[in-house]
Amino acid sequence: MQFWFVSRGGELGIFDDEALTLDKLETINPVTAIAMKQMDTSNKSQLENQLAIEGGVPVRRTLLPYGKQLIDDEDRKAVDSVLRGDWLTTGPHVKAFEDAITDFTGAKHGVAVSTGTAALHAALHSVDIAPGDEVIVPAISFVATSNCVLYMGAKPVFADLQKEALNISPEEIQKKITPRTRAIVAVDFAGHPCDHDAIRAIAKQHSLTVVSDAAHSLGATYKGRNVGVLQDLTALSFHPVKHITTGEGGMVLSDDIEIDKRLRSFRHHGIDLDFHKRNHGQTWQYDVVTLGFNYRIPDINCALGTAQMQKLPGWLKRRREIAAAYAKALSDLDTIDVPTEQSGCESAWHLYVVRLNLDRLTVGRKEFFAALRAENIGVNVHYIPIPWMSYYHSLGYRPGDWPVAEAEYERMISLPIFPAMTDQDVDDVVAAVKKVSNAYRSRTNP
Ligand SMILES: *Cc1c(COP(=O)(O)O)cnc(C)c1O
Repeated sequence: MQFWFVSRGGELGIFDDEALTLDKLETINPVTAIAMKQMDTSNKSQLENQLAIEGGVPVRRTLLPYGKQLIDDEDRKAVDSVLRGDWLTTGPHVKAFEDAITDFTGAKHGVAVSTGTAALHAALHSVDIAPGDEVIVPAISFVATSNCVLYMGAKPVFADLQKEALNISPEEIQKKITPRTRAIVAVDFAGHPCDHDAIRAIAKQHSLTVVSDAAHSLGATYKGRNVGVLQDLTALSFHPVKHITTGEGGMVLSDDIEIDKRLRSFRHHGIDLDFHKRNHGQTWQYDVVTLGFNYRIPDINCALGTAQMQKLPGWLKRRREIAAAYAKALSDLDTIDVPTEQSGCESAWHLYVVRLNLDRLTVGRKEFFAALRAENIGVNVHYIPIPWMSYYHSLGYRPGDWPVAEAEYERMISLPIFPAMTDQDVDDVVAAVKKVSNAYRSRTNP
């Protein structure tokens, strides 16, 4: 039960005490109790419509994050059993987790590593990206997408996006190809697959490798095929906001046994893993054949990942339900555009990115965002264009070269979406978006 009150100072608020009655309140604060009795319902609805950022009552009492992991007893049991066993790091659970992911995606090989960033680094290393090479990446993504190109001493070349799905545009890729281009890292932004066939065709024509950065899209499908088998290499992330988690973790998927061997060596210091097999384990010798890293993922984390995989189908279904509920409730608003799926594509709905129609609003994205946060909706923005970052500025990148990405960035807001969200949480987000949209909607036609 909620109690509305007016304090001595004349401020409006609500009581937290579930057991509070008007009689009890009278003994604590008679002034408030009298004011409450006088308050009529029209007063209350006025209060509800007032934006929290302007002193009104927030739609929710507690902050709803934009994304969050879901850990259950099965997950805890799986981790606990590893802690009771003989291996903490590379052991049977790494292999079991790799199998769980390849079974789900249909990829032939999977190499589990310590993070999604390590997966991208390993993928580019496995195809010998080197100084002097150029790798085409989207102008908007998480910074790991292009940092991994720099790790190899190569040059990230940012391409503009398609306006609809906010994915890298095949036409823009084409424009960026030079004799130095060696690869493309294509991100399935927000979980929506890129135009993979078009990208593949360009890559084939110019003999380029395509790395699918599928950190957002485990479980998405493109023309009926799973993300994970669409390009030469696929990188996944198991960070807690992603579809399933290992705490930190990542994986590289491929169909090529030689590439798979290189990836396994790279995650283990560049050590030749066939050495011991050839010598039947009867020697202390080992050889380092490339400059690798320690990118191993512990058995502890992989046991969690395998347990999480059991739940992935149900969680994808829940993400789709939430996206459908948002689309149903919000697509009539002329102040925002909701995301849609392109034909032949099924998004994995990692993010739900709406775009503001700024010419129909009296405020900018910054104010709209702050108003939603004040309503206790944990909105976010994914992502600031990578070439705008200070470090990239120091490398010579300048704003202004990616008109679609840069214009769309100014309109983007990510609404919460994660499987543990309740229907009430979804309703709260809808109510808050409608409340803020209504308060800031321009009354004159643009
Ligand atoms: C999360 C993410 C990564 C990196 O994953 P980590 O596991 O956090 O290292 C790479 N690319 C994209 C698009 C991501 O969202």
